[in-house]
Amino acid sequence: MAVCDGCGLQVDDAHIRRRIERLELATRFRPIHIQVLLIDAAPPMSERDYFYRASSNREERSLVSRMYFDEIVKSAGIPLDADMKEEAALAEFQHRGFFLAYAVECPVDSEEALSAALNRLGPIMVKRVNASYKPKFIAPISSPMGELAPLFEFSGWGERLVLNDGKPFVDPFLGDPQGQAEFGTSLGDRLAEALSSRS
Ligand SMILES: [Zn+2]
Repeated sequence: MAVCDGCGLQVDDAHIRRRIERLELATRFRPIHIQVLLIDAAPPMSERDYFYRASSNREERSLVSRMYFDEIVKSAGIPLDADMKEEAALAEFQHRGFFLAYAVECPVDSEEALSAALNRLGPIMVKRVNASYKPKFIAPISSPMGELAPLFEFSGWGERLVLNDGKPFVDPFLGDPQGQAEFGTSLGDRLAEALSSRS
């Protein structure tokens, strides 16, 4: 047993190995200078759904994960066509200075546990942003990140925090392409628009 840097919990070796693997996958696509840091609360439970695990066969991802991937990539203004491979999309995402990070760097299996972890690790995330990522803009995504938005505001990020009416960008219809189209909730499109008016 050891304490994990990513989630601050006592965990087994397999947990640490999975965390290191996620770090390695993300590091491959980390821009040297980050323009826009997207911050989600925590990575998905399934390793196959991890954003930076470029899959050559998209069927390996769940539908929610495929839609999530597409929305995140679109937020960088990258036009998605069916032929684009995930590897190429991630390389372009990196090339445009975009990076996706998590406030809690390990999957969390309940809302209560996630809320507790965000409270515990929020200040550490702010330090990591200031000392390591040093982005031009920060865009928190997903509703649990609403808990951390004030923390970034108080830490001097107010002007460079990209929010949607004071809240993180959320796509309530992830996993439901029809609902997304019908209600126009595409997170990627809305975020790309908000960012283009900033830079
Ligand atoms: Zn962990």
